[in-house]
Amino acid sequence: MNQIVSEQLAALRRRINRACLDSGRSPESVQLLAVSKKQPTDAIQAAAAQGQCRFGENYADEGVTKITRLGDPRLEWHFIGPVQSNKTRLIAEHFDWVQSVDRAKIVRRLNAQRPEHCHPLQVLIQVNLDDEPQKAGCAPEHIPALAAEITTGPRLRLRGLMAIPAPRNDPASQHEAFARLRALYEGLKREQPDIDTLSAGMSSDLEAAIAAGATMVRVGTALFGSRD
Ligand SMILES: *Cc1c(COP(=O)(O)O)cnc(C)c1O
Repeated sequence: MNQIVSEQLAALRRRINRACLDSGRSPESVQLLAVSKKQPTDAIQAAAAQGQCRFGENYADEGVTKITRLGDPRLEWHFIGPVQSNKTRLIAEHFDWVQSVDRAKIVRRLNAQRPEHCHPLQVLIQVNLDDEPQKAGCAPEHIPALAAEITTGPRLRLRGLMAIPAPRNDPASQHEAFARLRALYEGLKREQPDIDTLSAGMSSDLEAAIAAGATMVRVGTALFGSRD
């Protein structure tokens, strides 16, 4: 397990560096979020031993179990799954970031439930880029109102946008989708100049996301292998 994860992590870092150089960007401008959903804690520890410190989880209960079991203050935990209102307290109490905020009710609950002794919860707005009814994320036209709601919450800090475009196989249409996301990000940045995070790109499309300006890629399969 340790050996495989550390080799795949090294290969993934080379892949990210190559994508950065190909788009004329510095490799330090892209952070790697290791998506550890459905992976055991020893796989997380193997990646952490190689200096990987950011991990993403999709399910609140599973994520909190791992966060608590590992108890490692050096690790940074990102919630990236759909947020159900009955899970906001668990998320607010245990995670460092939430990348999947998509409606005002969730914003208000997270702000109210974030404990005083924690640093503010770092928040990304998830955008439903391709108008897919089964997917989480707000419509692009709702971004400004949601951003305004987040910035009024003293226990929250708005950091940017996240999206999961519909799967596309050809690079040209991957680029087209990420370019639309980049334009939304630039539009939001004009209103909220402090934002600094565009979370986009997974195992199958991280090159296109980096070319479009992603500052964080979220990778599961290419690092930990299949989840089945
Ligand atoms: C599972 C997941 C990923 C990682 O996907 P891979 O294709 O395994 O790299 C990234 N982002 C989100 C929101 C996910 O749910």
